Amino acid sequence: MNIYGCTLKKLQDYFISFNENPAKAKIVFNEVYKNNISSFYDIKKLSLPVLNKLNEDFSFEGLKLIDKKESESTVKFLFQLLDGYSVETVVMKHDYGNGVCVSTQVGCNMDCAFCESGKLKKIRNLEAYEITGQLLYIKTILKIPVSHVVLMGIGEPFDNYENTMDFIDIITDQAGLALPHRHITISTSGIVPKIREYAKRKILNGLAISLHAPTDEIRNELMPINRAYPIKELIEAAKEYTYGNKKITFAYIMLKGINDSDECAYKLAEILKGINCYVNIIPYNKTPSANFEPSDKERISEFFDILKKEGLNVTVRREFGSDLNAACGQLAVKYIKKKKTTEFTPVIYTGKLGM
Ligand code: SAH
Repeated sequence: MNIYGCTLKKLQDYFISFNENPAKAKIVFNEVYKNNISSFYDIKKLSLPVLNKLNEDFSFEGLKLIDKKESESTVKFLFQLLDGYSVETVVMKHDYGNGVCVSTQVGCNMDCAFCESGKLKKIRNLEAYEITGQLLYIKTILKIPVSHVVLMGIGEPFDNYENTMDFIDIITDQAGLALPHRHITISTSGIVPKIREYAKRKILNGLAISLHAPTDEIRNELMPINRAYPIKELIEAAKEYTYGNKKITFAYIMLKGINDSDECAYKLAEILKGINCYVNIIPYNKTPSANFEPSDKERISEFFDILKKEGLNVTVRREFGSDLNAACGQLAVKYIKKKKTTEFTPVIYTGKLGM
């Protein structure tokens, strides 16, 4: 197993499985994430037989950075995976710190009409270490401080639930990267059973639902997932997440002539009435394979005003990275054919983590 995909709990169970003290897991975690060791033999506090066993059972392979594009507000990275596929990761520079947008799958099965990431159907889930690896590369190797993580890159995180939860557990663990729970946000197209499962977790991280339409009629056309889990069920599941006074975010892309009328705004306000939520209006980023047009600035502002007047907490998302094709919905999977003889080069994480 790859150590970067192993949660503290799994590592504790691992030690228990051969009658070792599970407290040793914390020592390993600390060394891996706080001291950035790249070999278990650097751990001074554990005995040689234990280190030998760790060395046999776990690897330290990281991702390989193969491309990087940078603009004023955004950096886009292309990371190669072991099997030749690569996924994109984006760093967004906010005034309050840097946010990293990670991918969770190679391709995506959701097939949303406006999104480029789903044009290549899901090829496979990313393993937890491949999600963690995106963040580690940026934080540890490139030494870019990271304060927030959003799971809004390629893929549907709730269609890769286990690995996604493992990733969150690793990066929020006090013995791991110790990112604050409230600084991690998952975005989902609306897989209702998983929203419910997520809402039941003891510690709640952020949740954004890609709503994008106030009626099933419109949403069915934009997002096929709506046929499986229509708006009424989605809203019920969203409410479950908000129990205990947690705020949920609804994302709403503005597509000219499709979902941006006054009527849509009033309907949206109606279905979200009484829910502890933010509405995040997103200007649509054009993609090569869809025929949508973004709503005009005036239309967005009129839509915004209606939602405000109706009492919703509403913001318009600042655009990131559309100049790099690094904005929401513009990320894509690439396949770089590797020669049979080319070995994957493990990347060694070195240097101190900077927050
Ligand atoms: N599958 C998840 C996360 C990935 S997409 C989800 O659907 O939420 C991240 C966000 O970008 C979603 O809200 C998605 O609907 C939005 N998005 C997709 N394509 C877009 C585009 N062309 N312009 C603006 N936002 C887009």
